[in-house]
Amino acid sequence: QTPVPSDIEISRSCIPKPIGQLATEIGLRAEEVELYGQTKAKVLLSTVKRLKDQQDGKYVVVTGITPTPLGEGKSTTTVGLVQAMGAHLHLNAFACVRQPSQGPTFGIKGGAAGGGYSQVVPMEEFNLHLTGDIHAITAANNLVAAAIDARIFHELTQSDKALFNRLVPSNNGVKMFSDIQLRRLKRLGIEKTDPAALTEEEVNRFVRLDINPETITWQRVLDTNDRFLRKITIGQSPTEKGHSRSAQFDISVASEIMAVLALTSSLEDMRHRLAKMVVASSKKGEPVTTEDLGVSGALAVLMKDAVKPNLMQTLEGNPVFVHAGPFANIAHGNSSILADKIALKLVGSEGFVITEAGFGADIGMEKFFDIKCRYSGLRPHVVVLVATVRALKMHGGGPAVTAGVPLPKEYTAENLELLEKGCSNLCKQIENASVFGVPVVVVVNAFKSDTEAEIELVCRLAKAAGSFDAVKSTHWAEGGKGAVALAMAVQRASQAPSHFRFLYDVELPIVEKIRIIAQKIYGADDVELLPDAQQKVELYTKQGFGNLPICMAKTHLSLSHDPEKKGVPTGFILPIRDIRASVGAGFLYPLVGTMSTMPGLPTRPCFYDIDLDPVTEQVNGLF
Ligand code: ADP
Repeated sequence: QTPVPSDIEISRSCIPKPIGQLATEIGLRAEEVELYGQTKAKVLLSTVKRLKDQQDGKYVVVTGITPTPLGEGKSTTTVGLVQAMGAHLHLNAFACVRQPSQGPTFGIKGGAAGGGYSQVVPMEEFNLHLTGDIHAITAANNLVAAAIDARIFHELTQSDKALFNRLVPSNNGVKMFSDIQLRRLKRLGIEKTDPAALTEEEVNRFVRLDINPETITWQRVLDTNDRFLRKITIGQSPTEKGHSRSAQFDISVASEIMAVLALTSSLEDMRHRLAKMVVASSKKGEPVTTEDLGVSGALAVLMKDAVKPNLMQTLEGNPVFVHAGPFANIAHGNSSILADKIALKLVGSEGFVITEAGFGADIGMEKFFDIKCRYSGLRPHVVVLVATVRALKMHGGGPAVTAGVPLPKEYTAENLELLEKGCSNLCKQIENASVFGVPVVVVVNAFKSDTEAEIELVCRLAKAAGSFDAVKSTHWAEGGKGAVALAMAVQRASQAPSHFRFLYDVELPIVEKIRIIAQKIYGADDVELLPDAQQKVELYTKQGFGNLPICMAKTHLSLSHDPEKKGVPTGFILPIRDIRASVGAGFLYPLVGTMSTMPGLPTRPCFYDIDLDPVTEQVNGLF
């Protein structure tokens, strides 16, 4: 067998079809497509309206066992499956994936367009600026940050009536409060709906936000792994008159605006979510929103293009939406609802949309169901659970690995004992998927060193654990043709009855929802709320956010809170350190450990290898 060339060599050897041609092939009209060069296009949201009577296709989510440093290949499998369905089974099939952050691209992980003969192309475009969505998010996020500090600064001096007039929107020349403003008035004890009826004292009360700087939860963002921005002091120039405070930068994809983009179901819905974001509390403990800051309309303007999904293609010419890439710990780690919705209409009732959820099934899939599907109203037909023999061996107690050092023999030679032990993790994740009532297809993403006996063992144990089917797939080495068995299994599973149900009722108390996830999905005995978390439960319940779904910020490297514990840890109490709220995106996120929201650069960052060939204009070293 000839060795598989590098990802970039494979990507470059493919001449993608003009993206406008692909758009026509999949049924888009010229006026629904905005071309960004020859290989990328944005698709207008009006497509959903035009196709509203079209029945949706089948909805498939790709997830995985608990990740290990050995990699499982969820993105590669998502692309391989769509290639098999499209080019080999002649079904309409669409992949929906996340846009990667430039932080990891230049830092530690490298690109994320899939791998081998299952990739999104061109990978340079995919991994770099794409169509600028992340830049738009960065701009919008930082406008909010600037608005908060400027509002605190100017609150002492500005003319309140003038500010009031600017904050209250006009509709055909008539001033009317927005819903969010009406709610704020109610909290302030002002039961008036006509802006003209407010007394001077009421106008002053409405305008003064009295932001408590200690409670600001909104941070500045940048899409660069810059660890020195993890803690900074702002406002040190004398022109800021002593308004100096400690602050931080997060990576752009950790911005709540990214989570909003991913969970938005229409332009109106986005405008509303961008207005609801809570950035701080007032000195009296009332939530302060982006609408109170008067910035939400400007945010919608900055995000008006980012909200349109980006069309690209696989190596075999199948359509792919690359849209949104929220963090998978402090946010939900799934691509956008809008991309999935448009794709489901475009493929038609017999077609398939394959969407990927980040991290393992305990995190990405749970959030896909309980957060994304709750907001989208979409119901999944099949779960594809990706496993690799080598990662399962690590769950069975295999040795740690070091980057750049050859893999220990446990991973390169047959070892059925280690593998069987590690399959406990696979079986637990099958059980986790089954809790939601959706049929599960297990796929063993085959590596060159896997033996037939090893693959057969994983498939046998997966079936015994209740999966609908379990198959081997060689899409990395062979492209779509290597995933035909997987595609057929998914097609069969999509015809099986799916009894989808959420894990918890959002109306349950916050602690109860956290406990259900911890016990049913992670296998914890119970949860323990530390004092900060307890205080937040009281605060959010009082502020009226108690009925939001839960987005656990837990390590992805273990089912428990300890990344060292592989397999299926038992007998642990899950500690909840603190709880934060993304009210605009629409979830509460309990912090199970310390979560870094600004990665750093390693000793040998990927950017050392990256360069531009000035003659060919080719980007080198992106993998
Ligand atoms: P995930 O989505 O789970 O993070 P990816 O699909 O991005 O994983 O794959 C991670 C890396 O592993 C990529 O560089 C990809 O090329 C490589 N990879 C995936 N599957 C295989 C395979 N079967 N054989 C060799 N390398 C693989």
